[in-house]
Amino acid sequence: MVNLIPTPEAVMQILKRTGAYREGHFVYPSGKHTPHYFQMPLAFRYYDTARVLAVALSRKFRIDRDISSQLPKVAIISPSSGGIPVAFGVREALSAEQIYWAEREEGGKRMFRQYVNQGEVNPCIIVDDIIRSGSAIEETAERVKELGATVIGCGTIVRFTSAPESIGDVPIKSLIDFESRMYDAAEDCKDCKDKAPEEHVRF
Ligand SMILES: [Zn+2]
Repeated sequence: MVNLIPTPEAVMQILKRTGAYREGHFVYPSGKHTPHYFQMPLAFRYYDTARVLAVALSRKFRIDRDISSQLPKVAIISPSSGGIPVAFGVREALSAEQIYWAEREEGGKRMFRQYVNQGEVNPCIIVDDIIRSGSAIEETAERVKELGATVIGCGTIVRFTSAPESIGDVPIKSLIDFESRMYDAAEDCKDCKDKAPEEHVRF
């Protein structure tokens, strides 16, 4: 079963082909510069691609006995809108019972979009399309614990190597571990020094 999981190179090919991963000279709204840019929803606009990525991630959970033994009484949880297609794809592949997703409310606190009562939520697998800093998944894990539920798995299509490798004692499974380069200011940016044209990106 393990060999049915595509290699990181194969996943990267999918992200390049769909435009979800690009190389260039990008400037974030924060002012940070980077030579690479992920816009994961571009990969998820094609149903077939979305399915391949989500099924691949689901296999990493399926081969984990501690997780697979609890199916189907499991909740798949997305920390934000970007993870929703991942959550639905993983749910489908694992036949998990529940799906929840969170979003950031005014004031910045991350809350579940659904009204949920204490004790309603099954043991949770938190999934996202990309983990850059890990803060979204960490905040979501906190909400899960507040509801009296447990986190039994975490996973993402892409994880920046600067992000945590686990949430508590739950390892973050990923299809790609990507070593991100980010420059806080234009003076430090190699592409600025080379006078490469900038592209300003929204997310
Ligand atoms: Zn630059």
